[in-house]
Order: sequence, then C-alpha cells, then structure tokens
Amino acid sequence: MCKSKAQSQSCDAALTIGSVTVQGSTGQGSGHAEMTALSKWIDSLNNGATTADTVLQAASVRKVYCPSRPVCKQCAAVLQGLGFTLGDQTEWGSKTMGSTEWGLAGNVKELLFTRRINYDDIINLRSGNNSNEYATRLSKQQTTSSRAARAAARN
Ligand SMILES: [Zn+2]
Repeated sequence: MCKSKAQSQSCDAALTIGSVTVQGSTGQGSGHAEMTALSKWIDSLNNGATTADTVLQAASVRKVYCPSRPVCKQCAAVLQGLGFTLGDQTEWGSKTMGSTEWGLAGNVKELLFTRRINYDDIINLRSGNNSNEYATRLSKQQTTSSRAARAAARN
C-alpha cells in the first residue's frame, strides 16, 4: 500500500476473478500493478490466455482494487475491455502515468488478442488519443477480426 498520494505511482493492486484474488505490484517486470496481477493470474491457469479468456467470461465477479490511486488510462482500457468493474475505493483514472513505464507481459497481450483488443491502440493512449476515439475503435475491432490478426502479425 502506498505511503502517500505523492508516491502513488508505485503501488499494489489486486484483481478478483470469480473466487480468486491475485495481487500485483508495480515494477515486477510487467509494468503496472494491475497488469502484473493479470499476468500472474493468467500464468496460474493451464493453457494461459486461452483458458483465461474462457474463465474470465464465465466469472461472476471481475473487479479491480487499487485504493491508493486511480487506475491509469492504459490499465483501465485493458481492464474495461476485459469486463472488469471497480472494487471498493477504486476509480478509473483519466490520465496515463507519465513516469511509470507501461507495458504488458506476453500472456496479457495474448489475452487481448484473443479478445480482439488492439494493443497498439492502448499504447497510443499515451500519446494523447482521447478515450472516446479509443472506445469507438474498440467496438469496431470487436467485430472485425482481420484488424486484430494484422496487429498480432506485427507483434
Ligand atoms: Zn496502470
């Protein structure tokens, strides 16, 4: 847990998926705490991303907990795309976190690909693309698999 708001870029977060809660911390090798937790959770499953997609869609609860700071725009895009909602004392932020490097572990990228969420679009949130545009593109992509396939070919 963070000691002060000023230090809030380095924090712990947790995801609850069904009956399982996974903790993550910033700086464990896959970027932000929320994404670290997601990667750990996928790792804990047989067949990684494929199983993760099935389990996530079937889960009765998909919540993110990050009480010490708002979830950054990029993590929010990933989590909202995957159907997560806010846990107690947690809010979606409207900003990316400039000074904390953002990236995704391979298994999280795989899950996004499975869901036809374009990783490049989420990376681009950082350069100032607004979230309305992102949401529009996301909804288009969910019905257009060829774009996702091309994005995967680039990665
Ligand atoms: Zn984040």
